[in-house]
Amino acid sequence: MKEIRLDKYLGEMGIGTRSQIKEMAKKGRITVDGTPEKKTERKIDPELTKVAVDGHRIAYAAFEYYMLNKPQGVVSATEDKRYETVIGLIGDRMRDDLFPVGRLDIDTEGLLLITNDGDLAHQLLSPKKHVDKVYYAKIEGVLPSDAAKQMEEGILLSDGTPTLPARLEILKEGEISEILLTIREGKFHQVKRMFETFGTPVVYLKRLSMGSLTLDETLKPGDYRPLTNEELEELK
Ligand code: URA
Repeated sequence: MKEIRLDKYLGEMGIGTRSQIKEMAKKGRITVDGTPEKKTERKIDPELTKVAVDGHRIAYAAFEYYMLNKPQGVVSATEDKRYETVIGLIGDRMRDDLFPVGRLDIDTEGLLLITNDGDLAHQLLSPKKHVDKVYYAKIEGVLPSDAAKQMEEGILLSDGTPTLPARLEILKEGEISEILLTIREGKFHQVKRMFETFGTPVVYLKRLSMGSLTLDETLKPGDYRPLTNEELEELK
């Protein structure tokens, strides 16, 4: 692996700022392969070197990938003054540069990929890539009988914005109907706005999948786990 500076290694693993790390090193709290190291600008190979702070090994991860079942009431952001963030839910994270791949509304649940891999995020979010996203929703009322056909042809949102073709599957019809909707883009409040046009507002929304990545249904809202190697390979 490419060599990186000791202070970068520790900084990326959330140990502190560059000057805090320098102070720790001065006090002999940082060891490299068992020997105290005062030169924080020293370059090391993260794969071949054992770094410890106060005797605790600090492993290095260049990239992290987590699948989160986002609960309601949490914002899809890295920082927020008022609300808990999705990043705050990832208690096991090693790196301090994780971000959510795309956004779910504060009241939307379901699949959110959390990573620091900008290239992968770009691949999944780029409008040109047309990655399918499947949503489950509860909506108020019954859709017109040609709703699926209209969605397939692409509809106009109330402000005149056209949507790309989407696939609608009706699971249940009633006062509260249940549907699956597959869309290939991610406009602001897209699913809610699509159902607004039919006069059937969304009352519950959950994302089930994004491209090849499917929400692990054993994850309760607020739970997360690292992606498996297979999930990651398929996604890339
Ligand atoms: N569409 C919405 O309206 N909200 C979301 O959170 C995701 C898709």
